Amino acid sequence: MTLGELRKSRELHESRRYRANVKYKRARKGSASALYWLTQRGKEWGLVARRQHQIKRALAQLPQISTIGGAKGIVDNAFSIAHRTGGNRVYVGSGYRPGSTTTSGNVSDHTGNDAAKAARDIGYQGRDLLTGPPAPELDHAVVAIGKAFGRDYGDGKHSIVDTFYWRGYRVQIIWRTPAFGGHMGHIHVGVKRT
Ligand SMILES: [Zn+2]
Repeated sequence: MTLGELRKSRELHESRRYRANVKYKRARKGSASALYWLTQRGKEWGLVARRQHQIKRALAQLPQISTIGGAKGIVDNAFSIAHRTGGNRVYVGSGYRPGSTTTSGNVSDHTGNDAAKAARDIGYQGRDLLTGPPAPELDHAVVAIGKAFGRDYGDGKHSIVDTFYWRGYRVQIIWRTPAFGGHMGHIHVGVKRT
């Protein structure tokens, strides 16, 4: 994501961003913009950053998902969250797979890697992508990814097959199930523009 794309993003100026229970918002006054967070008392917005490079750095540290870049941007954001949450052994086991179909014979989100459609299989080094066993780091990661989409996955240590709509996209998250070809060792995040 470039700073130019950040500036152009209408969403950036209107959204409130979440880190744990902390709300963030981007506000604009005239030509100046700034990033604020809601203080603990929950009544005042405290200034986080005002300079562009500070804002950019602050945003990069939030477990946020943005629609900048469309479906591909969303799945890349989801991986960033997983990587930050689960550590350096978290990796993209599979992304773009032209021609791939789902176990039910439908066209997979893995057939795209652009603004309209994209997918990532997020794995953990040393664990089999299909059979696992599930890495605790990915339990934490799926919780963080869910939270960024406003979903509650509890402790992440259970089977998740979740399809939902978010900001004009159909999102699918699959974790800890032997179904659909095996998701015991990776988190599937698939996104398609609706
Ligand atoms: Zn997948």
